[in-house]
Amino acid sequence: MLRALLIAFLAVSPARAQQPFKRVLKLMGSRFEITVVAPSKQQGEAWIDLAVGEISRIEKLISSWDPNSQTSEINRMAGVQPVPVDPELFGLIKRAEGISRLTDGAFDITYASMDKIWKFDGSMTEMPSEAAIRESVARVGYSKLILDQEAHSVFLPEAGMKIGFGAIGKGYAADRAKALLMEKGVPAGIINASGDMNTWGHQPDGKPWQVAITNPMDKLKSFGTLPISDQAVVTSGNYEKYVTFGGRRYTHIIDPRSGYPATGILSVTVFAPKAELADALATSVFVMGVATGIDRIDQLPGIACIIVDENGNLHTSKNIQLKRTP
Ligand code: ADP
Ligand code: MG
Repeated sequence: MLRALLIAFLAVSPARAQQPFKRVLKLMGSRFEITVVAPSKQQGEAWIDLAVGEISRIEKLISSWDPNSQTSEINRMAGVQPVPVDPELFGLIKRAEGISRLTDGAFDITYASMDKIWKFDGSMTEMPSEAAIRESVARVGYSKLILDQEAHSVFLPEAGMKIGFGAIGKGYAADRAKALLMEKGVPAGIINASGDMNTWGHQPDGKPWQVAITNPMDKLKSFGTLPISDQAVVTSGNYEKYVTFGGRRYTHIIDPRSGYPATGILSVTVFAPKAELADALATSVFVMGVATGIDRIDQLPGIACIIVDENGNLHTSKNIQLKRTP
């Protein structure tokens, strides 16, 4: 009897086998790839829809382009008055302020006034003047931010100051989408926001998810792969958004202290429990440079990083075991 039951179960199980389902779409102005492991296509698609809804909701909250977002209101009221915001946005800003402090301002949530100077959409035709750069840096400074915990209000005390989530928002969205799907019982998945990803569970065959570390000198090649599960991994690279003046490449990650784009690094990959932190740290390491970046990462428990410098050399923090591509 038991045997018959067992055989019946085995005969049924392939039809209900778990499979990965993936959707690629544009959200937050970036390419997202959402993968879930589900027992059927219908279930997989329904779960992906939930993730898309959650990411769109976050986009509305943090977008600096949407004039109706609370973030735009904070920026409009710079130098005027504090703006009370949703507890969720307040929490994100507070954590972003914390990371700004942790990285001594290499990541700075108020970096955004420099966005007016450096544009990476093809519209820049010449190097910004030193005076313009100096002026934009003067309005950057996370320590000026005034957060009122009780009123959940955010105040940028000087006119022209701006906050922006360019270096942390996609990571946060990946974390939230993952949390929502886990809450709904989705056994495994990957939320990949243009290289900012969070993962949970395993592939249907029981193996961990694998991430490839892209070679920034040749995007079609990878340096190697690493297994990950229940972890976030984020890559910031200078190979997607940059401008070239006089044969030099200026990347979209800017040192908030000088106002000039960070140099010396091609890509940074950070592993952390949350994509939000990994995202902000990847940007920070870019600004800090190889030696300071690795030193900082090694002091943070549960965090690891891989850096590719401008000569194509690989640098890793302790605890990284990359399976190198032969
Ligand atoms: P990507 O968008 O390629 O994933 P990042 O996560 O590093 O890369 O974010 C880069 C974006 O963050 C820039 O386009 C800009 O909007 C913003 N940014 C640039 N420099 C800084 C900085 N020092 N601190 C905070 N945000 C920054
Ligand atoms: Mg980042």
